[in-house]
Amino acid sequence: MKASKLINSMLLAGSLIASGQLLAQADYSNVNIQTIPVRGNISMLIGAGGNIGVSAGDDGILIIDDQFAPLADKIRAAIADLGSDTPKFLLNTHFHGDHTGSNADFGMNSIIVAHENVRSRLIGENSPASALPVVTFDDDVTVHFNGEDITLIHMPAGHTDTDSVVMFSGSNVIHMGDHFFNGGFPFVDMANGGTVQGYLNNLEKALSWIGDDTAVVPGHGPLGTKQDLLDFYNVVKDTSTTIRVMKSQQMSKEEIVAEGLDAQYESWGQGFINEQRWIETVFDSYPR
Ligand SMILES: [Zn+2]
Repeated sequence: MKASKLINSMLLAGSLIASGQLLAQADYSNVNIQTIPVRGNISMLIGAGGNIGVSAGDDGILIIDDQFAPLADKIRAAIADLGSDTPKFLLNTHFHGDHTGSNADFGMNSIIVAHENVRSRLIGENSPASALPVVTFDDDVTVHFNGEDITLIHMPAGHTDTDSVVMFSGSNVIHMGDHFFNGGFPFVDMANGGTVQGYLNNLEKALSWIGDDTAVVPGHGPLGTKQDLLDFYNVVKDTSTTIRVMKSQQMSKEEIVAEGLDAQYESWGQGFINEQRWIETVFDSYPR
């Protein structure tokens, strides 16, 4: 159960290698959780899986996402250094296992808040009861905590159909979840309600909400700025347009992959999603 769930989440995370290799790779003993100060009382934890956001203050600890189950103790140790090993709130940006893997552990003592589709999709994966969000919402919800408004806003039909971004009103920070792969092509999970066009629409909304000096926490990759998010948006938009134009000229998926994207995008295909996978995603996400 645990192993199959892990494989499932790694597959969801975009990995296409055989499951035997996945099991061999699922060793978290060497993972270190690194704490990056973001701004004010907000920090970002990097380990394996999605970046974790932390608000630490007089009200206690609130975290956003929780990586993989075997990392729960290491995450606890990292947040203990920020004030407490037990968060009062755990917010999930979406349901993927590299962002909710420790839910079952933290959910024993923390209130999990997420979009209603996170709950339904986790139920669909037979997740234990303690892993499920207990407070769900449709469009948005605000947690008043550590002296500021912490607002989850649903981002429909983008990375999945379960996603939210999290805005910190006072600290001027946004956690983008997997609506931001800083420096790489994004994973768009079409099997779980994601679309490339919805992803672009959501990025446009987020860009309109933040300022030039907003600190931008990505789901994956290093801490970023609004300019980094804008660069990412332009890459997603421009490469999607190029791929769609080739598709409209009756080129097959294979022909577009063979043609490839401009050399300027080479570094964007070095991460999670390589160029071929990105071309296939865009091709499949739009009608001809
Ligand atoms: Zn994801």
